[in-house]
Amino acid sequence: MTQPSAARAVWCEHAWLGAGGVADAVRVEVDDAGLVVDVLPGVPARDGDVVLRGVAFPGAANAHSHAFHRALRGRTHHRGGTFWTWRETMYRAANALTPELYEELATAVYAEMVVAGWTSVAEFHYVHHRTDGTPYGQGDAAGEHGAHAMELALARAAVRAGIRLTLLDTCYLAGGFGLPPEEGQRRFSDGTAERWLERLASLRAAVAAQYPAHRVAVGAALHSVRAVPEQDLAVVARHLPADLPLHVHLSEQPAENEECLRATGRTPTALLDRHGLVTGRLSAVHAAHVSGQDIAVLADAGAVIVLCPTTEADLADGIGPAGDFREAGARLALGTDQHAVVDPWLEMRALEHGERLRTGRRGHFDPESLHGIAALGGAAAQGRPGAGFAPGRAADLMAVDPRSARTAGSDRDQLAYTATAQDVTGVVVGGVLVARDGVHTALGAPGPLLAAAIARLDDAAAATDGPGRPVAPPTQPRER
Ligand code: ZN
Repeated sequence: MTQPSAARAVWCEHAWLGAGGVADAVRVEVDDAGLVVDVLPGVPARDGDVVLRGVAFPGAANAHSHAFHRALRGRTHHRGGTFWTWRETMYRAANALTPELYEELATAVYAEMVVAGWTSVAEFHYVHHRTDGTPYGQGDAAGEHGAHAMELALARAAVRAGIRLTLLDTCYLAGGFGLPPEEGQRRFSDGTAERWLERLASLRAAVAAQYPAHRVAVGAALHSVRAVPEQDLAVVARHLPADLPLHVHLSEQPAENEECLRATGRTPTALLDRHGLVTGRLSAVHAAHVSGQDIAVLADAGAVIVLCPTTEADLADGIGPAGDFREAGARLALGTDQHAVVDPWLEMRALEHGERLRTGRRGHFDPESLHGIAALGGAAAQGRPGAGFAPGRAADLMAVDPRSARTAGSDRDQLAYTATAQDVTGVVVGGVLVARDGVHTALGAPGPLLAAAIARLDDAAAATDGPGRPVAPPTQPRER
């Protein structure tokens, strides 16, 4: 039976239908907006259907990304890889970015994501201005760049890669409690919360004029309680449009909590709550070092907790209390953050493994929970419909080979504990095929794209003096 409104269809050799288990020969009918119209198990493929081999799962929604951090992978481990190594490398990359270089790098990074099975991404974006802090579109005699040059570069990159983008324009005003931005942070800052809000409104209009929201949408972020002074939190709480998702880096490290307590007398969560910012639209990223009271406040408000387990391991942030958040009723999501790993399967597994290591017990997040967190939690953090095999869901799917070296012998409903991005045989966004066997349908293999983009960024960094490169040991927790 074909629904009159179906515009296309995806036929899955096998499909994981959640608690319903794995069904064979599942045809997913999709409408013009890329939403599922009907799911029909046990039917043959028809001419023109996108065919997914292996076992299909809902596509994963990446709830936290800084695309340019991909250029740091494998470069921050010298002499053990201190905070210092990481931050110096990050600021050098941040300050070498131009809109052209960022578009090329982000296109490659988003291609890597899509090929791995991430079908949407929340980009936590703070590289807004030129390195000296002047906005694009001002004082540019050559007319080279318009306003929002960096943001629109990211939007074009996402559209080329076929990934849905929620561009979280980030308020970043201070270098710490009571401290102005450091030199390397000048291009991140709008100066005041009011000016950030004005630029955000202008960006929303510019993006909405070019893209449908199901491809590119704008959201908001506060970098952290350290980077947004308390008086500016109040301004944001009063004036940020109610329909925008709001993200914040929260309690990633004990030092952030200690500084916040010293400066304000409150934990970061309590400080945000004081200003009415802990609500159902909030996504708290990391939340690794939180009190029982913090957990209750976040969960009761319906906030999404965005865990980035492979990043948190790489940066030695600690293991967040994912199980405690779930017990309290909080919604969870996953993000790849600095992209030391871009693999939804490893991220799901790291969530369960972290909880096992933290508690000394197995069996916290079953496959249904893990896929729910990856697909629906990440979509909730972006204010989007989640992917899945039900009418009204986004027709975003990833299929894996159940007979690879990694997965052979696995029960099909336990692939969440064995598959990796290398096992992904096909990825569909909105019912359209975007990747097959590690190769992007429009852009090719991501590896050469990444290598070329990173090499060009390296050349640009070498050609500049690395403005903002720190010259003294850090005394504060890292800014990201
Ligand atoms: Zn981050």
